[in-house]
Amino acid sequence: SKLNVVQLVQGIVDQFKGAYDRELVFETETDEMYINGNHDQLQQVVYILMDNALKYSDKAVDIHISQQGLTVQINVQDYGKGIPPEESEKIFDRFYRIEKSRSRELGGTGLGLAIAKVIMEEHHGSLSVSSEPGEGTAFSMRLPAINEN
Ligand code: ATP
Repeated sequence: SKLNVVQLVQGIVDQFKGAYDRELVFETETDEMYINGNHDQLQQVVYILMDNALKYSDKAVDIHISQQGLTVQINVQDYGKGIPPEESEKIFDRFYRIEKSRSRELGGTGLGLAIAKVIMEEHHGSLSVSSEPGEGTAFSMRLPAINEN
């Protein structure tokens, strides 16, 4: 169905704001950006990315929505320890977790990003990561926008 991405993301950000005492900065270029898709599944992707950003860093998390041409982009940026370049593709594999010892105490199964990637592909979109070790990590969801013309 037709979804306003801004509203969809705002809903998840509000949930996290209520549950965590952390700085969450939500910025969007406009109030309305429409896509076709499954509301609950796309919220699950945003949830997985925000949950990871909060889990693997202890600083603020920035959520940013923009539109370039017919592509809507949702960025979730953290300022945590980052992901080593050689791990940046493996993290999308089922059950893969960086340094099992580092991750063990935080809990989790290593399924979140694998699920997120499948949902994005089913929506003819993509999920990618860009990370600077020691600086932070940004995940980008890209989805085809509905052409309003
Ligand atoms: P869960 O299935 O509960 O989400 P998980 O967080 O371990 O468990 P994924 O979401 O698939 O599983 O993430 C896989 C691994 O990628 C994590 O274990 C972690 O090592 C790494 N990772 C994911 N997001 C980040 C991030 N924002 N910063 C640093 N490392 C990350």
